[in-house]
Amino acid sequence: MSLSRRQFLLAGAGVTAAATLGACATSSGMQVRAPAAGVTRVSLGRVTATTLNDGFVARPLDANFVRNAPLAAVQAALAEAGLPTDKVEVPFNPLLVDVGGQRVLFDVGNGEFGAPTTGRLLANLSAAGVDPGSITAVVFSHFHGDHINGLRNRAGSVVFPKARVFAPAPEWNWWMDDQRMASAPEAMRGAFQATRRVFGPIAANVQRFEPGVEILPGVKSVPAFGHTPGHTAFVIEGGSRRLMYWADTTNVAALFVRNPDWAVMFDMDPEAARRVRRRLADLVISEKMLLAGYHLTGPAIGELTTRGSGYDFIPVKA
Ligand SMILES: [Zn+2]
Repeated sequence: MSLSRRQFLLAGAGVTAAATLGACATSSGMQVRAPAAGVTRVSLGRVTATTLNDGFVARPLDANFVRNAPLAAVQAALAEAGLPTDKVEVPFNPLLVDVGGQRVLFDVGNGEFGAPTTGRLLANLSAAGVDPGSITAVVFSHFHGDHINGLRNRAGSVVFPKARVFAPAPEWNWWMDDQRMASAPEAMRGAFQATRRVFGPIAANVQRFEPGVEILPGVKSVPAFGHTPGHTAFVIEGGSRRLMYWADTTNVAALFVRNPDWAVMFDMDPEAARRVRRRLADLVISEKMLLAGYHLTGPAIGELTTRGSGYDFIPVKA
């Protein structure tokens, strides 16, 4: 068969699969499917990773959002990515991984406590055909409200009744310190209160781990302190490839993947966060890992490449 004939058939097969199944086999051996809007499933051999969108918030853009760059530079970066320049849309993307007989959910979204444009996780789990009762572990990267509030609903019930709950010990120790809460500035009071609402009644059941250890077979935690005092990333052994979930190592890709030295207003220790951003990005690239991140673009899972003094995030395509 001639090369052009084979290419033609391959192209045809790709179009058919994409059109009829929403499926696409990429050159790296991954299988990508989008069973519903807001749900993207990537098969990596022994492991399946599914990103589940929990909605977004649109924030008016002001000089505070990026602490150490002129507003005009921030607007130029948004424009270069084809995004509006008067606001920033921040999406929320929990990650579900089926690995080693476990079904692990990393971060749980805003639940019933966020903006009206959020709280989509349970609907998207349902669209993905996943029963919340089938989730065996919930793993938190850090304790900001957009990551933890979905664990328990307004009635107080844990939404994932069979899941073991894992949290980074340094994150727990920082936020659950009552003395620190008492002396915290008024603006941080709500964040401290959220940690107590979510974890207070189930504290005895939360497994705290030291970042660096393997928390479950095939799931290794990686210290990534800076965004918060105990912010933690995870590397999942994926079979054909490893996957890093780096949570809030960056906020939106067009700004902070492209310009890793920029500091988003939510980074509690901007200098440490900046070092972590470059260290993990370089690791993802040198080890050829797939990358998922909570506030990344589109399906929030894809490839990282270098460009100039920064990086580009290229989401997978279903
Ligand atoms: Zn976040």
